[in-house]
Amino acid sequence: MKKVTILLPAYNEEASFDLIRENMERVKAENANYAWEFLLVNDGSTDRTLQQMIKLHRSDPEHYSYVDLSRNYGKEIAMMAGFDYATGDALIIMDADMQHPISAIPEMLRYWEEGYDDVYAQRRSSKETWLKRKTSQWYYRLLQSLTNIPIQKNTGDFRLLDRSCVEALRRMREVERNTKGMYSWIGFHKKGIYYEQQERRSGSSKWSFFSLVNLAINGITSYTTAPLRLASFLGVLVSVVAFIYLVYIILVTNIWGEPVQGYPTIMVTILFLGGVQLLSLGILGEYLGKVFNEVKGRPGYFINSYNGMRNDTKDTTKS
Ligand code: UDP
Ligand code: MG
Repeated sequence: MKKVTILLPAYNEEASFDLIRENMERVKAENANYAWEFLLVNDGSTDRTLQQMIKLHRSDPEHYSYVDLSRNYGKEIAMMAGFDYATGDALIIMDADMQHPISAIPEMLRYWEEGYDDVYAQRRSSKETWLKRKTSQWYYRLLQSLTNIPIQKNTGDFRLLDRSCVEALRRMREVERNTKGMYSWIGFHKKGIYYEQQERRSGSSKWSFFSLVNLAINGITSYTTAPLRLASFLGVLVSVVAFIYLVYIILVTNIWGEPVQGYPTIMVTILFLGGVQLLSLGILGEYLGKVFNEVKGRPGYFINSYNGMRNDTKDTTKS
């Protein structure tokens, strides 16, 4: 019997556990032709999420495993830990707030059986505001124009990955992670399905406006080095414009004998150049920061404990 792991990274999701349990029990009952593992990753929650995980594990150790990370690392790293500890032949990633409907799972499994390695779920109708929808649309367009790896639109981490994809992702140990880009990068046979995003029933979203902006910048800088080229282009452009202006000034002063016009032109030039330089520095800095974090070569995460089916680790429950 093939085994499928459902990975649930959770940060302060104590209120979602009744729903998680209910959903996972349904998945198990409705897809009884597979063995199921439900792998919960506690991403340094400050509420009772860990206690809830321990409770679930104790009630049914055959199915519920958990990894307790040593602190809050963010969802990307929590998923990386999940890739490491998952034991299934396939892995389905879902949000612990259960915004991803389990009703999509049978379809994912069907395509997996047909031979697809990465069955990703696309949001169909999203109840987001017009502005948010448009910005994400522009963002995808921009991103796609910068790289020739096909990017899946309106797609998050909700997907089924074959073991081959999981192993590929496990070999990518970068700590500056943009997992969405990594799914695209590794290739393999991909298939998109559609789903309706559920409302969050309890707890609150961990995303603020600024973290979304950060995510967007992070997305671009980890996909491609194209912005670095922008600095070169801007440099050339400004030089050409400056040269034309230089010729113009020489002509004007020598032929028409116009007196030197100083202040406004100097101000505009300095401010403009200053802006271009700061922008270029900022772009450089974005990449340099990533290099800095990567070059330290630190492990992506540490764990307090793991309780589950991977047998090369021992029971580490602290009670
Ligand atoms: N999450 C996590 N670590 C974090 C933040 C979030 O593991 O530092 C988990 C969170 O518990 C949830 C998933 O990532 O299962 C998605 O988070 P959230 O629901 O806040 O994002 P949204 O659905 O609003 O995009
Ligand atoms: Mg959510």
